[in-house]
Amino acid sequence: MCIRLGYDRIATVVKQRRRGGSTRARGVHAVAMAYDTNMLVEASRAAIDAALAAGRTRTNGGRAIDEHQVHAERLAYAATEVAAAEALAAHAAERADAPVARMAAAFAGEIAGKLRATIEQHWDDFGLDAAVFAGTLGRDEVRHAVRAAQHEARLREIGAEVLRTRGANNGFIDGDMAEMARDSARQFARKEVAPIAERIHRHDELVPESILRAMAELGYFGMSVPEEYGGQGMGNLVMIVITEELSTASLASAGSLITRPEILTKALLKGGTEAQKKTWLPPVAAGELMVGISVTEPDTGSDVASVRCRAERGEERGVPGWFLSGAKAWCTFAGRANVLALLARTNPDLSLGAKGLSLFVVPKDPFTGHEFEMRQPGGGAMHGKADATPGYRGMHSYTLTFDRYFVPAENLIGEAQGEGKGFALQMQGFAAGRLQTGGRACGVAQAALETTATYASERKQFGRPIGDFQLTQYKLGRMATHLAAARQLTYAAARAMDADESISLEPSMAKLFACDVAVWVTQEGQLLHGGWGYAEEFPISRYVVDAQVLPIFEGVKPILELKVIARGLLGR
Ligand SMILES: Cc1cc2nc3c(=O)[nH]c(=O)nc-3n(C[C@H](O)[C@H](O)[C@H](O)COP(=O)(O)OP(=O)(O)OC[C@H]3O[C@@H](n4cnc5c(N)ncnc54)[C@H](O)[C@@H]3O)c2cc1C
Repeated sequence: MCIRLGYDRIATVVKQRRRGGSTRARGVHAVAMAYDTNMLVEASRAAIDAALAAGRTRTNGGRAIDEHQVHAERLAYAATEVAAAEALAAHAAERADAPVARMAAAFAGEIAGKLRATIEQHWDDFGLDAAVFAGTLGRDEVRHAVRAAQHEARLREIGAEVLRTRGANNGFIDGDMAEMARDSARQFARKEVAPIAERIHRHDELVPESILRAMAELGYFGMSVPEEYGGQGMGNLVMIVITEELSTASLASAGSLITRPEILTKALLKGGTEAQKKTWLPPVAAGELMVGISVTEPDTGSDVASVRCRAERGEERGVPGWFLSGAKAWCTFAGRANVLALLARTNPDLSLGAKGLSLFVVPKDPFTGHEFEMRQPGGGAMHGKADATPGYRGMHSYTLTFDRYFVPAENLIGEAQGEGKGFALQMQGFAAGRLQTGGRACGVAQAALETTATYASERKQFGRPIGDFQLTQYKLGRMATHLAAARQLTYAAARAMDADESISLEPSMAKLFACDVAVWVTQEGQLLHGGWGYAEEFPISRYVVDAQVLPIFEGVKPILELKVIARGLLGR
């Protein structure tokens, strides 16, 4: 797994440093900390690998996960946390940067300590050989390293640095292009999006056309579209870095605008005919066509293979095609969108499950309100009504009903070859969406860290800024550390996807972990704001409600853990 390659890099870098050379420059203390970090991730990796091997036997190679759901979920989460610790440690090993090294050590210690406790609490379920445990997380040296890494003084030191820098994210990213992309996206997001983000949220407005136009000019809708189809072909890492910056300004009226074209692009690249790629990708990349993704139905969410919306073969005015009938739910941006990527049942035999589903590009007129109706000349109709939500405002998410809505046959992705392949294409699209959501989550958590660091520096109680108190520094230190781990796990997944577009495990792990970090960091930030954290005019209250949706969509957390991550890890 690519994330683990990062871990190999740490070992190499730490070994080089142990051999001499840079020891004096970096100080004995720094080298000792890097050594501990290395040992902690090594012990965690060995223990989780042994636990996964036992889990594979227990679940019959992943086939019996449903008979062991609770343990499978535990394994999926623990493996994800270990991968996050490895990713942050690899990043720290490459940078002679003291704050990053402290965060890597603290996080490696937290994860090793947590994994050790989890294994001990559920010893029989884990089924670990006692000698393996004793030789990894049970070693005295490892236990001492956990205590040192988790010492509150180290986390307070990280928190003090967060206060000093106001939480700014200026860390090194491997690759000039990504750093340049970050600078330009930051400038755009802070100048154009941030000033209107609160108004859009509080009045439940639609993202203005000016933002869509500006993002189109910057090429943000075509980042994963290859240059031959009019896109930027910039790859996944650049896409993530830009997503983070946009989401720091606003989740729903900037960062999430990229998700939909990303999902459709990946589905078209995987399964579209050449003519379909040439028809749809250039206008999507240019931001001329806004996209909605329509999979979920009122009675069908996680069990995507059971989608019921029907597509019946027919003809309208001599054009062969399909008539769509049925209901869809939670289709974000469906009003303003010019096309929907819609999953429908082309074979009425429900027993076929996923094999009866096909993916369509459904054209429609754009609408700006919370409710719309579109009637076709031949009598077909599509109706949409937005569901009110506490956060994630700016695009509106609609319940849709289709009544013999006509779509030409050439709009079925893959045409005749694509019939029955919609589920697989949609899943490929979701893998890209999940990676992008890792970036969205890091952006929201970053916004919360920055605003909380500023608030804690300015708010005074008991005669001192609240940031002067030990507990505030400790909390900020943990927030920054978890965010750094989520970011590096997401970047590692982006690099892995750049190397192999077909992967789904790494992006899913990044999504799982980063979304939880966003929920937790925003809530910690809100508490540090006290009562003002609950006031709408303080942005932290928006970040809290925005973050809460992140573990729900693109595979609600328990399903992502069981059906994607546990399957991916235990099915090997
Ligand atoms: C604001 C918002 C925007 C959205 N945007 C879109 C969009 O643009 N396009 C789109 O298609 N969808 C969208 N969604 C829908 C989203 O993807 C779904 O809500 C999500 O996939 C979960 O489906 P569900 O809500 O039907 O939950 P369910 O599938 O009913 O699951 C609910 C809970 O049941 C439990 N559960 C279910 N099955 C199992 C199982 N096998 N084992 C153990 N536990 C289980 C889990 O605890 C799960 O969390 C959006 C949702 C929201 C809230």
